[in-house]
Amino acid sequence: MKIVRTVTEVRNAVAPFSEVGLVPTMGAFHEGHLSLFAAARKESDAVVASLFVNPAQFSSGEDLDRYPRDEERDVTLAEEAGIDFLFAPAAGVMYPPGYQTWIDVEELGRRLEGEFRPGHFRGVATVCCKLLNIVRPRRAYFGQKDAQQAAVVKRLVADLNLDVEIRVLPTVRDVDGLALSTRNAYLSPAERETALALPRALATKDPAKARAVLVGLDVDYVEVAELDGQRVLAAAVHVGRTRLIDNVILDIPCQDSSWLGRTKKGEDR
Ligand code: AMP
Repeated sequence: MKIVRTVTEVRNAVAPFSEVGLVPTMGAFHEGHLSLFAAARKESDAVVASLFVNPAQFSSGEDLDRYPRDEERDVTLAEEAGIDFLFAPAAGVMYPPGYQTWIDVEELGRRLEGEFRPGHFRGVATVCCKLLNIVRPRRAYFGQKDAQQAAVVKRLVADLNLDVEIRVLPTVRDVDGLALSTRNAYLSPAERETALALPRALATKDPAKARAVLVGLDVDYVEVAELDGQRVLAAAVHVGRTRLIDNVILDIPCQDSSWLGRTKKGEDR
């Protein structure tokens, strides 16, 4: 595996290949990332994993500074997963002085996560668009764990006529049901126990029942939403200082959104 840090380097690296797979990540690899790597490996001549903790998707007061980073460990895991090129740019490579162009997926980017993390999807959409333009992969791989992120990326790919296929892979969970996430590392053992309410709540597949399971937790939202034509029950909760998100896919195909149940912070239902 080759570690590449500049746009020219990664472009030159993938130039000989026609079936390039890209897996965008923020590092601190876990089985969720590895499942995307495996899918990409199966379908591609060359696999690029990007490792970039994108400052643009964190707002001030969020966890950018303490976000887990361990490049050495990530290099080993990526190598074992058969990644060909690890693209690990410095922030100045992605956002050089004078940078001023942003992608705003307007309506979709303001709902759910976008409501509680203003500007988050502007940062996500911009960095993903840049990575897709830099690597120009045939396919890019995302996790259902971040269902709204995957929907935002699919939206921008369609809206901006990008020539790439977006693959969304199932959420990988721990044996206790908690979706794997880099942020789980913040949880104390007691907080982790508390956090198990999140997958339990979502397993009800019902927003009112889910909210009942989450009583006592600081809930940002528990909401049925249509994302990329698929109905999901999605939730975000705070456990101590850690904010966790998760979702489950609901079975019935979505016809329209008028009937969707909705329970939110400050609402009674
Ligand atoms: P991150 O490094 O957290 O930005 O995640 C990089 C990619 O891995 C994103 O597409 C995530 O949706 C995906 N991912 C993160 N956690 C999981 C998980 N538990 N299962 C499947 N995919 C995941």
